[in-house]
Formats: sequence, C-alpha cells, structure tokens
Amino acid sequence: MGVGPHILHADLDAFYASVEQLLDPSLRGRPIAVGGSVVLAASYEAKRFGVQGGMSGRQAKQRCPDLVFVGGHFREYQRLADRVMEVLSDHTPHVERISIDEAFCDVGGSVHLFGPPGVIAARIRARVRDEIGLPISVGAARTKHLAKIASQVAKPDGLVVVDPDRELEFLHPLPVGLVWGVGPVTERTLADRGIHTIGQLAATGDEALQRLLGTAIGSKVFALAANDDARRVESGARARSVGAQSAFGRREPTPDLVRSVLGHLADRVAGRLRAKQRAGRTVTVRVRFAARGRPSTAVTRSSTSDAAIATTLTLTEVAERLVHRALADHPECREISLLAISVSNLVDQPVLQLELPVDAHDHELRPGSRVGSARWAVDTQIDAIRRKFGRSAVGYTSTALSDAVSVPDEFRELAEHEL
Ligand SMILES: [Mg+2]
Repeated sequence: MGVGPHILHADLDAFYASVEQLLDPSLRGRPIAVGGSVVLAASYEAKRFGVQGGMSGRQAKQRCPDLVFVGGHFREYQRLADRVMEVLSDHTPHVERISIDEAFCDVGGSVHLFGPPGVIAARIRARVRDEIGLPISVGAARTKHLAKIASQVAKPDGLVVVDPDRELEFLHPLPVGLVWGVGPVTERTLADRGIHTIGQLAATGDEALQRLLGTAIGSKVFALAANDDARRVESGARARSVGAQSAFGRREPTPDLVRSVLGHLADRVAGRLRAKQRAGRTVTVRVRFAARGRPSTAVTRSSTSDAAIATTLTLTEVAERLVHRALADHPECREISLLAISVSNLVDQPVLQLELPVDAHDHELRPGSRVGSARWAVDTQIDAIRRKFGRSAVGYTSTALSDAVSVPDEFRELAEHEL
C-alpha cells in the first residue's frame, strides 16, 4: 500500500457519553457521566471540569456539582459502534477494530475510488455524524502510531492528517503521554527526569530508556518516539486474547473479595473462550492499587502453562494465585480498585474435553484426571443451560457479584486488550 498517510485511526469522541446525549436530547450540552460509584465515561462538558473515566463518582461530583449521572445503555453502545464500523468498512476492507469505539483502517487501496486519505477521512466523519449522529475524530498518517496520535490531537470532533514529509515536526513537540504505552506512571518517571516531549524522549536514547523503564517497555517507547513503527493494519485478525475487568471502589483485598471478583471474571472469560472453541496458555491478571492522595498504580502478573485453559474454575484458580502474588509483592498497598483477567496464547480447541493447567505438581488437574474432566463437563452443561435459558439461569456461586461495580459483557465484548 502507498507511502502516503494511508492509515486512519478513527475514534469516537467520549463515546458512551455521546451515545447517552444522542438517546436523550435533554442531556445535550450538559456535563454527564456514565456510571455511578465509578465514572465509566464523561462527556466533554464534564471533562472541562476535570471529570475523567475511572474517577470515583463522589470525586467527580466535587469537581462538577452539576454533573448528571446516567446509567449505561450497553446494548445501544454496541449497536451504534457496530454501525460506525460498517461505515469504515464501506471505504476499505482493511479495518482492524481495537476496541468498541476505535479502529485502524488502511485506505491505501481505496484512493482511486474515494480520493486521498484526508478526503476519505472527512467522508467517514461526515457519514458518522449524519447517519448515526455521533462525533468521531480521525487521524491519518503513514504509520499506526502517528495515526493514533493524530486522532487524539484532533479531538474533539476533528481530523488531522500527518504529512509524511513532516512527521517529526508533528511528533516531537507533543507530550510523552501520547506515546502508545506511556501511562501516568511512566509519564511521571519521565517527568522526574525532565523528559516531557516526545522529542526529548527520542533524544534520551534506546539504552537509557531501557534502563529507566525496563527493557521491553523502554525499547518499545524509544522506537515509537523515534517514529519507527512498522505494524500493519490487521483486518480480520483473530483475537489474540480474551479478557474482562471489573472496577469497584477502593476495597480491602480480602481472599473472599478476590475470589468472588475473579470467579465472576473467569466465568465470563472462560465462557467466551469456550463459545469460540478456543483455549489459552497464558493467563494475565491486572491489579490496580488505590492509594489515598496519590495516582493509582496497576501491576500485571502472568503465567504460562503447557496446557491451554478454558474451564472456569481452573482459570479462577490460576488468576487467584497470580493476584495473591501481586498483593504479596506490594504489602504497602492496602486497597485495590480493579481486577482484570486476560487469557492469551490462544489455540483452537474444538472439542476440549480435558484440561489441566496450573503447576505440574497439580496431579489432580492433569489431562484426563477426574477433576479436569469433571470441570469440563460442568462447564459444558452450564454453557448449554445458558444457551437455552440465559446467562443468569445458572452459574458458580462465586460468580454472583453483589456490590462490586461490574462492567457488563456487552461493554467489554471488544475489550480484547493486551493488558
Ligand atoms: Mg473513543
């Protein structure tokens, strides 16, 4: 495909909040937050007061006393986002959806049909606005990283095309927080060293960044800052991981809480894997620690076993060990606010009768063992009952989550994230 700005990154603006304002005109122009005890999304009117996703409802209300909380119409989010993806697909078959409301497209093969990438991007924006009623920002560039940054710079409701001859002029003055993979924690580490712009990041050098941020992240961040990104748009790529997360207020991570949240998440994730006839060898958990008066920090722990996992109880157990390991490594953190499970290293497993993960010394869980087969049998029966009578018809007791704020599955269906 061409060397012009042929990769688009299209990202709906304040998506959940915009949908709520679309559905209820009385909410338009007002600061709204989707969520309750936790803000899942905020409208631009609310963002102007400093309200952000992930913030507690109470804190959000303090920043913006007029804030209106609305419940989420999760089915509508899915339906409208799917329509937006169809608009993208009308312009190129090369669409890689990376979350419910954002996607990369490679329009290099479509320029003689629709005009240059900037024109295609403008058409997409106009159609999404006219036909669906939602604002969407688009970045167009030669690489995925530049396109994604361009769409963030374009927000709200804008279009930025990065001229391939002036990429560094565009990239280097921007703040480091826009680099893919630089979160608030990394941003602080960098700020402490006086590194604020992407240009300063590139000038710091590969080795110094590896020392500062760790080998993997350091080299990745350096490459992106140096404008080195050869990733292609992977349309139709099969999910590389399946995950789910649950955010709750600050809670003490008692064994009961951990077990109950992970049981709930494992039920979702393992059920999705089985529905896709997939199983995964690598289990990753993420734990977000809530610290009073400081930004929260998250850690991940993962383990890979020889055998692929797709049963709910086994996934729960593996995740539990990983979370307890993370907690043990951070004894100073008394409260947590989010747990997530992701399963990757996926393999096809059309008839998954036997499974056995965990540690080699867990003989009870080895393939063909009574425990392994029994778990598989229970899960397949639960799946069958749910197909007939709905998800709430049956489940493990640990999957019944009482007061934690759990994000509905529809909402996370596309969160096939890399944790
Ligand atoms: Mg978005």
